[in-house]
Amino acid sequence: MDSLKERIVRLESSANRLEPDKDQLESWNRSATSYGSSFIQTIQEQAAFGADYSVIDQLDHFPIQATGRSLEELIRTLQETVDTPGVRPAMPGHLGYIPGGGVYSSALADYISAFTDHFAGMYFAGPGAVKIENQLIKWMCDLIGYPQTAFGNLPSGGSIANLTAIATARHAKAVNSTNVRRSVVYMTKQTHHCVHKALRILGLDECVWRDVGIDEDFKMNVEDLGAQLQADREEGLNPFLIVASAGTTDVGSVDPIDAIAAVAEQYQCWFHIDAAYGGFFILVDELKPLFKGIERADSVVMDPHKTLFLPYGSGALLVKDRSALLNLHRYQANYLQDAGDRNPYISPAEAGPELTKHFRGLRMWLPLQLHGLAPFTACLEEKWLLTLYFYQRVQDLGFLVGPKPELSVCIYRYELDKQEQANTFNLDLSHRIRENSTYFISTTTIAGVVWLRLAVANFRTHLSHIDEYLEVLQQEVQQLLASQCSVKI
Ligand SMILES: *Cc1c(COP(=O)(O)O)cnc(C)c1O
Repeated sequence: MDSLKERIVRLESSANRLEPDKDQLESWNRSATSYGSSFIQTIQEQAAFGADYSVIDQLDHFPIQATGRSLEELIRTLQETVDTPGVRPAMPGHLGYIPGGGVYSSALADYISAFTDHFAGMYFAGPGAVKIENQLIKWMCDLIGYPQTAFGNLPSGGSIANLTAIATARHAKAVNSTNVRRSVVYMTKQTHHCVHKALRILGLDECVWRDVGIDEDFKMNVEDLGAQLQADREEGLNPFLIVASAGTTDVGSVDPIDAIAAVAEQYQCWFHIDAAYGGFFILVDELKPLFKGIERADSVVMDPHKTLFLPYGSGALLVKDRSALLNLHRYQANYLQDAGDRNPYISPAEAGPELTKHFRGLRMWLPLQLHGLAPFTACLEEKWLLTLYFYQRVQDLGFLVGPKPELSVCIYRYELDKQEQANTFNLDLSHRIRENSTYFISTTTIAGVVWLRLAVANFRTHLSHIDEYLEVLQQEVQQLLASQCSVKI
């Protein structure tokens, strides 16, 4: 007995090193906050892309070992190996993909939810955390005009939110082994690939996937949708899911939601809207009409880590009829019997796949409470107008543009006589910009044509950046043209 106790006591002193004493705690806090301050304070000078990937090799010298290292050393290593190479979403010059950003107040919330470590998966364990998450879900449901019956879930991002939405649709529409091969999903070429991935994960790659036509603005052609549904119905198939986009990643276009809703209702399909990128633009009064009819959708996904400017790790799923979400996810477990089954609030664990869940909602709640909604709305309106400004100015530089931006993505390309040459030219241009400036842009290929994309969604990107980027673009085009002429000579 005594030897057992001795052994336990010996272990306790080593185990205790996980808890810092007061001095240690204060010293760690100082190191961490000075890291944060210097990161934020130098952000305006930092390039949005780091080309030297070799710095990550240093990490080979940091095996996990029995004894610890100093926080200073570890922070220094992170600064060199993680903060430097690759795409840097926090920088204002990030204009590629859908940029991130990460408002600092949200980082404070992550810090708080990590050290308090509340169990936010169930009401019984974390009633305050659950109530806050439910309020956020309600706030977003109200934003899109959902009724009281609606509910949702706050997962880690848009992909998981779309996956959960489609799983809910599959369950609600009773698609299973008896009918999966006759069941039909309707999408367009602009549908985000995470929807395809979700379908495959869920075994719905055995369904029939219909490619609904798009118009010249890359929006779903509703007549074609209706015609395909009618034909499929007549053939005895089981149309069950229509996926629309409110803000496509490629070009930022919003499908004609209201008209699609009418067709979905007529054919009794589950109507899902992927608004991961575009959803929060509904906060901007002038853009509201684009989202007309969104409340008619059965489910909607939006990404607070995109257009609510939170750090990565925040998605949102909203479902109009909460029972559909609960029927799929609600479980009882013997060992959870103390949690009770008559709670006044729905728990996240009943409305999504996670059980143990950190207090993810705090990273959204704290910034919204601390800053108020106004700066977020202003930011969204500003990004939309910056994109329109760019759309006009880039044409003055001789670029061809795609459709007039509806949200904050603009596609544009430099035209040359030969299509193939032009594709290479535009790709070269994007590489030069990445290498020679503090700006990072990405490209896309639509129907064989390479386009440069401008996506303004980092909250730090302002007019001075767009102006400077236009100058960079002009310079790089001239130099690239000049270098090509000299090759010919
Ligand atoms: C980003 C995006 C997704 C995927 O969301 P993640 O948060 O990256 O998982 C889905 N759909 C659209 C339209 C997007 O822009």
